[in-house]
Amino acid sequence: MIGGGAIGSAIACFTQTQPGFSGEVTVIERDPGYTRASSVLSASSIRQQFSSAINIQMSMAGIEFLRSAHELLAVGAERPDIGLKEQGYLFLASAAGADVMAENHGLQRAHGADVRLFSPAELRQRFPWLATSGIALGSFGVSGEGWFDGYSLLQALRRKARAAGANYLAAEARGFDCVAERITAVRLADGGSVPCDVVVNAAGPWAREPAAWLGIDLPVRARRRCVFVVSCPTPIAHAPLVIDPSGVWFRPEGSGRFICGTSPDARDDPDDLPLEVDHALFDNVVWPTLAARVPAFEALRQTGAWAGYYEFNTFDQNGIVGYHPAVTNLIFANGFSGHGLQHSPAIGRGVAELIVHGAYRTLDLAPLAFERIAAERALVERNVV
Ligand SMILES: Cc1cc2nc3c(=O)[nH]c(=O)nc-3n(C[C@H](O)[C@H](O)[C@H](O)COP(=O)(O)OP(=O)(O)OC[C@H]3O[C@@H](n4cnc5c(N)ncnc54)[C@H](O)[C@@H]3O)c2cc1C
Repeated sequence: MIGGGAIGSAIACFTQTQPGFSGEVTVIERDPGYTRASSVLSASSIRQQFSSAINIQMSMAGIEFLRSAHELLAVGAERPDIGLKEQGYLFLASAAGADVMAENHGLQRAHGADVRLFSPAELRQRFPWLATSGIALGSFGVSGEGWFDGYSLLQALRRKARAAGANYLAAEARGFDCVAERITAVRLADGGSVPCDVVVNAAGPWAREPAAWLGIDLPVRARRRCVFVVSCPTPIAHAPLVIDPSGVWFRPEGSGRFICGTSPDARDDPDDLPLEVDHALFDNVVWPTLAARVPAFEALRQTGAWAGYYEFNTFDQNGIVGYHPAVTNLIFANGFSGHGLQHSPAIGRGVAELIVHGAYRTLDLAPLAFERIAAERALVERNVV
């Protein structure tokens, strides 16, 4: 495994505990303190409200796993607390987006998601702190959506993987030794190497690098996203994670505090920006939008901020998962574009099945296969935040 973030650690955990697995997982992680890993710089939220079947199905598996994480990831008497709060997501649509929202709702319901549509009047009744000007429809996740502590999930996956026999190596992968179309070893920066039967690229925002060592152009780039922490003197009761039609979002984070943010304009979203907070984004875009949507936010105070990288799939903003068609023992688990933490249990389970049994056994992750890129067959997901 190259990379021991939530994706690499979930795959390590599920592989090492997979019935029939007799091998040994080595996770190569160059930053064991996870100072720059997306998994610890995330907004750590989960929703069922996607527009593609595979993303909804992975979220269904995700919430089931998160609800039982204290049991599934227990090591001896130690039961992790990942702080899951099922307070829902509320997507808001203008008149221009209402039809698409209703269409997505149909698909979500067909897959068993517990979501409801609200008119502006119903929204005002249920969320009296919300201003509904310019809103035609709202979509609320009654259950199965909310947020959790991403750092605790990562640490719990890592602890479980290690307890089951996975070996975490504090080292940087730098290249591959290959014979014909197979990788035989991962070369390390310290001059050592790790022999392997299967390699998983779980390098998060840096995933293009291991692919490039083989001449493969993986369309995954590090795109900076900023999260702002604010406090609000007026209580905002039972707030879900709210997504304004503009893309500005907020959610509660402890008592009287919220986190919020937005994605930059797609035309001005360069790769590899330094992880410095864009304060102008808060002043010029996030705060004015929040104050218009929730008048109580006019009096908010910013108390903190951080920046992290989306592992952004420039082709279609969805995960790229499964074997490479030519390099026969290389598996990708990359490009989740802002929804990888909630999908890490489904990805971990699926990739473990692929490694151990040679095929997906629970959820078929074939729609995420690498082949769609060469075939220029985009997997469309309308709800990328
Ligand atoms: C601001 C922000 C908000 C987000 N909000 C959400 C959300 O609400 N819900 C959600 O589901 N997702 C969210 N995401 C996305 C989610 O955090 C990521 O999809 C997920 O954490 C990706 O996990 P990962 O393990 O692939 O990457 P990472 O956690 O980045 O781990 C990759 C690891 O690989 C290591 N690595 C890379 N190259 C090498 C190498 N050559 N050798 C050794 N080690 C290497 C790195 O050190 C790193 O630790 C958000 C992300 C950000 C930045």
